[in-house]
Amino acid sequence: MATNRTFTMIKPDAVDAGHIGAIIKMIEEAGFRIVAIKKTQLTGERAGQFYAVHRERPFYNDLRTYMSSGAIVPMILEKENAVADFRKLIGATNPAQAEEGTIRKLYAKSIEANAIHGSDSDENAEIEGNFFFAATELY
Ligand code: GDP
Ligand code: MG
Repeated sequence: MATNRTFTMIKPDAVDAGHIGAIIKMIEEAGFRIVAIKKTQLTGERAGQFYAVHRERPFYNDLRTYMSSGAIVPMILEKENAVADFRKLIGATNPAQAEEGTIRKLYAKSIEANAIHGSDSDENAEIEGNFFFAATELY
């Protein structure tokens, strides 16, 4: 994956609340091109694998349960400076601290059910994209 890509997923709370369309509109209007997209659901085991970096954190088990509680919409996105610009678009992890106009400020319910994921580095964007998509699913 090139360095101008990032990985995201709309999380179960936002899918459940019917915000898929509104969130994708914000993503496209911010200049990101959708390279890959699907609707799917993680098992608890797969959610644990995706967030393995957090396995020692106190919220890990809750996060696994939450992330496997409903459907998600993973996507690979393309734009100049994709990783950093996308983190700016989604806002802080805790919606109480997210800037006005960010996706999390608008749609997150809590620090856990915070509407959307965004990769934190080019390296993780590639790993996370590969977790959900085969090369033949990228356009
Ligand atoms: P992100 O990169 O902004 O998504 O945040 P992190 O990588 O630090 O955490 C991963 C995910 O774990 C977050 O997006 C939240 O869904 C969840 N999370 C992070 N911190 C907390 C916390 O303190 N409590 C709970 N319950 N969940 C958290
Ligand atoms: Mg993170």
